[in-house]
Amino acid sequence: MSKESFKGKLIIITAPSGAGKTTIVRHLKEVIPELAFSVSATTRLIRKNEIEGRDYFFKTNDEFSELIKNGDLVEWQEVYENQFYGTLRSEIYRIWEESKHILFDIDVKGATNLKNKFNDKALSIFIKPPSLTVLMERLINRRSETPDDLRRRIKKMKEELSYESEFDISIVNDDLEVALQHTEKIVRQFLVN
Ligand code: ADP
Ligand code: 5GP
Repeated sequence: MSKESFKGKLIIITAPSGAGKTTIVRHLKEVIPELAFSVSATTRLIRKNEIEGRDYFFKTNDEFSELIKNGDLVEWQEVYENQFYGTLRSEIYRIWEESKHILFDIDVKGATNLKNKFNDKALSIFIKPPSLTVLMERLINRRSETPDDLRRRIKKMKEELSYESEFDISIVNDDLEVALQHTEKIVRQFLVN
């Protein structure tokens, strides 16, 4: 994919698990119709409230390996042990075809890679929890992870928080309404410039 052929902008939302990415991405999708969400591929299990093709394309490990082998992923990471996530090239083309800007919810390493690839065309936003304790509480209260998965996510939080300076802006997600309004304003400004 050449940078020259890229027609729209990219909004990259990143953070440790539980910081509020999904909540903020949902809001942005609702209020800014020029944005379309890039649905990633993943090998993790589907959650109760998730829908195939809306939240993720759920894959087996073999299917995910095929995607890598065929060059179907723009970037991918083993975010947690044996849990793979990747951005599909087909999603980027689909969204370009719709003449929309692309909204990503990806981990700190994938976000750094995408930002470096697209530079000024991309705005990378780090969603910062008020504290590590609050972050853990949110993740535990979400009740979406098995105890093992929860442990893996908590183990990785500190490392993920250390990536903050890699991104264009960080937004603290303490009061949700304030964070939603702030993010929306920043994104709208970036899209009009
Ligand atoms: P992520 O996608 O980054 O893992 P989520 O958006 O799923 O995070 O948020 C994690 C949990 O915290 C969810 O249950 C969500 O409803 C809740 N949450 C998000 N933002 C806030 C906030 N500002 N205050 C309290 N709870 C929040
Ligand atoms: P979750 O399992 O909570 O939906 O996501 C776990 C982590 O994987 C989050 O940090 C999320 O942003 C990240 N993630 C989701 N999709 C992608 C992707 O396509 N690429 C990368 N690198 N990370 C992703």
